[in-house]
Amino acid sequence: MHHCSTSGLPPAPFDWTPRTRLVFGPGSLAKLGALAAELGGHRALLVTDKGIAKAGHVERARASLDAAGVAVTIFDSVRENPDTEDIRRCVAAAAAAKVDIFIGLGGGSSMDTAKGSNLIFTNGGAVKDYWGVGKATKPLLPLIAIPTTAGTGSECQSAALIADEVTHQKMACLDPKISARIALLDPELTISQPARVQSCTGIDALSHAVETAVTTRRTTLSAMFSHESFRLCFDALPRVLANPADLDARGRMQLGAAFAGAAIEASMLGAAHSAANPLTARYGVPHGQAVGVVLPAIVRFNAGEHTAEARYGELCRAAGLPDAEALAQALEKILRLTGLAAPLRSFGVNEAVIPALAEEASQQWTAAFNPRKITPADFAKIYESVLG
Ligand SMILES: [Zn+2]
Repeated sequence: MHHCSTSGLPPAPFDWTPRTRLVFGPGSLAKLGALAAELGGHRALLVTDKGIAKAGHVERARASLDAAGVAVTIFDSVRENPDTEDIRRCVAAAAAAKVDIFIGLGGGSSMDTAKGSNLIFTNGGAVKDYWGVGKATKPLLPLIAIPTTAGTGSECQSAALIADEVTHQKMACLDPKISARIALLDPELTISQPARVQSCTGIDALSHAVETAVTTRRTTLSAMFSHESFRLCFDALPRVLANPADLDARGRMQLGAAFAGAAIEASMLGAAHSAANPLTARYGVPHGQAVGVVLPAIVRFNAGEHTAEARYGELCRAAGLPDAEALAQALEKILRLTGLAAPLRSFGVNEAVIPALAEEASQQWTAAFNPRKITPADFAKIYESVLG
């Protein structure tokens, strides 16, 4: 077995402040009230969806806030892929209750709705005014993010992703001020996830670990998060699939997802997310599944470039795998375990649409951070390899 070493390369420069305090532990939702009070909160807006409320998590959150003397208004109308209309309604609820702290409880959509609403509530204007990097001029209210899935890592990111209600264009608003002040990680909350959600979000988290480990923006510090995230998710995802009540494995997945979120914050993503986005936009393939289906082919493509191959080597060592090909095969195996492995043809993709998909993939922002230059023709070959 041969590995090229990157130890001769000087570490890339970085400037890193941990913006989000991490509080982890089974049952830690009980600390919510004390943490909100510590941040100066008197009137909280709890942003969530009806499924989370039905699971009983909202009542437990409310009990903890009540006990700490923090009044709470519940906004439980979060929808998947929140848009500008959702933000307007949530901001109106925040204004009516004169809130001084936001709490996002749920999956990526709850956290995006809380972040986007906090941004507009404090800075005014419309979401499109903040589309891009660093557009907020005023401080935001404190935000506590409480994920109930182990996937997006949004709790560790300074981005809010909000769609335009008319064009459905997704607008990414990136600003350090948007970051949660505290991410409260209670693995007991993730046990209520439906199996399909758990599979999609788990594959997404694992994919984040793999993609962030090799991007052009990668630093020694982001690699540390990528490697630990990969080690945790690679071990725990099969265990969670085999036994959904395994709280130890749930905790590992939740940390793995959060660490991958921290890695994305520093290193961005790569070509697997570029190839996945058009599949989600045009064919409605769930995000985690779309990324999972194309990722092994992207790993094989990237491993043809020697620096990327060496970086995969470092990632492989974190999980006891010999090389990039073994990594690609292990990812295929985990995807089959989740039940999400499927040929693109089963989603309605055919040979005729591949050139248009490939063109769209190459225009995605994340393609620019892929470690190996990737052309539309390369994307077309990757889609063909998983067409079936
Ligand atoms: Zn993703």
